[in-house]
Amino acid sequence: MTYLDRAQQLKSKLIALRRDLHAHPELAFQEIRTAQRVTQVLNELGIEYTTGVAKTGVVAYLGEGAPRFALRADMDALPILEANDAEYKSQNPGVMHACGHDAHTTCLLGAAMLLNEDFKNKKLNGSVKLLFQPAEENWDEEGKSGGLRMVEEGALDDVDAVVGLHVISTNPSNVVFVRGGAFMAAVDNFYGEVIGKGGHGAYPHEALDPVWLSAQVVNAIHGMISRRKDPTKPGLISVTRINAGTVENVIPVSVKMSGTIRSLDEEVRAQLHADLEKCFALARAFGGEYKLKIQRGYPPTVNDEQMAEFVREMAEGLIGKERVRAAEIQMGAEDFSYMARAKPGAFFYLGAKKDSTDRPHHNPVFDIDEDVLPTGAALLAEAARKFLTR
Ligand SMILES: [Zn+2]
Ligand SMILES: [Zn+2]
Repeated sequence: MTYLDRAQQLKSKLIALRRDLHAHPELAFQEIRTAQRVTQVLNELGIEYTTGVAKTGVVAYLGEGAPRFALRADMDALPILEANDAEYKSQNPGVMHACGHDAHTTCLLGAAMLLNEDFKNKKLNGSVKLLFQPAEENWDEEGKSGGLRMVEEGALDDVDAVVGLHVISTNPSNVVFVRGGAFMAAVDNFYGEVIGKGGHGAYPHEALDPVWLSAQVVNAIHGMISRRKDPTKPGLISVTRINAGTVENVIPVSVKMSGTIRSLDEEVRAQLHADLEKCFALARAFGGEYKLKIQRGYPPTVNDEQMAEFVREMAEGLIGKERVRAAEIQMGAEDFSYMARAKPGAFFYLGAKKDSTDRPHHNPVFDIDEDVLPTGAALLAEAARKFLTR
């Protein structure tokens, strides 16, 4: 029996597990109950583990010695009020598993069940580390996410390669998407302020209107992407927040402006940062001032070419060639990027479209097709088995 057949037998167990996690979502670095649920399953299986990794994460160990492989799942939820009315709807109002990390945790536990049996029966040599990572969606006060903390704490030091998956609610169910090289974007946030001179709304010439100045800055940002960045290289800046003013007849002193910067390589990333500074500096042309702080976030997720090829072959062997496709480049970001920078890694997508309703990620009606849970578990287990026996 393949892992896929065996995982199908675990289906109802996996669905129950995912629904339990879904009903009890926890935000980044607060995954206390989630981690307990994980260790409960590991205890039942008799698998050893360490808790408190990257604050609220869990690392579990199967087998020993080389080759050493790692599988990663993230566990955190988002600050969203769930609008679905399913029986497994979030019991924690304002917090929701709206990115499918409940499914990832479930798939990795499913892989643990499958692999554990083979390790016990001495069918596998080498070792597999299971990384139950906290805080993919957010970082702490030190600017560090769960993935970065796991890498810094050495969770990947003794592994040869790492693989992770993400369910995608908008892609066809049970189809794998994978690509080598740059896959997902680097994310940086910027926090700016355009400073003019406040005054009476009826006497703009005596003030220096920062609303008008900020409009020049916004225009320059969007123009810069088209006129300054190499059009063959992906990159974008979205101004997502603008705040100014209190009342209709007062020109405010300043305008606060923030947004997100995405890029797929360090060269474009550096250029966007430098040019954003110039866009804000336009405020000076009319005697205004500006402040700009760029907070660097996750680096681009770059799949190791050989590992991506390994995942593609593995998935084709397990679920069939017709169910494995080339992934498009994504401007979304992932903190798996830190792991893929530390060791040869591959991150892949597993389509999980539930029904004809539009259920995008980070949306109050997000949900997945639970049919993918056994597939995800089998794919992770098979990646480990194949790596250990190649
Ligand atoms: Zn997300
Ligand atoms: Zn996610």
